[in-house]
Amino acid sequence: MGMITREDLERLHAYEVKPDSPVLSLYLTVDRSQMRNARHQMETILKQLLRSIEGELEEREKEAFREDAGRVEAFLSEYEPQAPSLVIFCDASEDFFWARALSIPLRNLARWDTLVYLRPLLEALDEYERFGVVLTDKTRSRLFTVFLGEIREEREAFAPARVRHIKTTGTDHIWSQKRIQRQSETHALWHLKQVAGELDRLTNRYAFDRLILAGPVEATSELYRLLPKRLRSRVAGTLSLPVEATPQEVLAEALKVEQAVERSAEITLVEELLTAAAKQDRATQGVVPTLQALQEGRIWQLVYAHDLALRGAVCTHCTALLPQGEEACPYCGQQLEVVEDLVERMVARVLEQGGRVEEVHGIAAQNLQKAGGIGAFLRF
Ligand SMILES: [Zn+2]
Repeated sequence: MGMITREDLERLHAYEVKPDSPVLSLYLTVDRSQMRNARHQMETILKQLLRSIEGELEEREKEAFREDAGRVEAFLSEYEPQAPSLVIFCDASEDFFWARALSIPLRNLARWDTLVYLRPLLEALDEYERFGVVLTDKTRSRLFTVFLGEIREEREAFAPARVRHIKTTGTDHIWSQKRIQRQSETHALWHLKQVAGELDRLTNRYAFDRLILAGPVEATSELYRLLPKRLRSRVAGTLSLPVEATPQEVLAEALKVEQAVERSAEITLVEELLTAAAKQDRATQGVVPTLQALQEGRIWQLVYAHDLALRGAVCTHCTALLPQGEEACPYCGQQLEVVEDLVERMVARVLEQGGRVEEVHGIAAQNLQKAGGIGAFLRF
């Protein structure tokens, strides 16, 4: 199935759904550690998602829904997952079927609606930066692009390495050794200068958000020194790797850098959130004020710690989400029902309202936990 391309998205975006023929949009993700069992896991998730949609349909809609669902189930029964996520859009009656595997985690979700539900996909793509990895030593250079957890070697990026052969001839052996050494050092510097010069062009050509410098330490530190300032600011990290490293080896190391970049962005996000909330500047912290803002439809971005588990309640009449401990719905006075997965429900509702969600990890999550584990930036 391969990577998602811009053309893919444009085609999906342009797809016109018939008003009386809804499309089934599905996002399925399994844990990376469970890849061996991935298809079975995906089938289980699919079953649950389909059941919850079907439960809310009117009788006359069910036949069309089952047709779409059946097509997806048939596809999945023959599918061999190579990546943890799978996105499917299907309208069987219009013979419309689109599926792609993704290496990034997505939220499990299903919609049966008169639109191709692209939002989670677009957001995921938006969130992931494109990394360029330049792997270089004193004589050779290779370029890789890393996007959405996948790597590609850009073989045409650098002209074939121009290796200068220096013959060891001459009678004065020591003199000649020194001369060779000097020549080869000059050559290495010349080579790295070429690379540094090329990187400007390559950064534009391959549209990198970030750069990773990889190779033996002497080469990467020299290359960093030679980079123009505007490129230095894009360097996300350096990796100590041999120039012959395989793309998979480069990817494994590059993903660690990418994660470190994300973690530090999350720390900044939580800092901004807590500062804004303290100033009451269109932000909340803690579950009660955040639920209130959600009820008022004001959440622009929900931020929560990944290990946050909260119980709460939902109003059986107006569906308001509430913290634990309320007797009756404060909005309509009706009965409440306990919910075990309050965070999941808040997330779903924010997405329904057109807001964004950000799950934070590590230190950012710890900092947020001290402030109730959840908060939000508000629209107004
Ligand atoms: Zn209510």
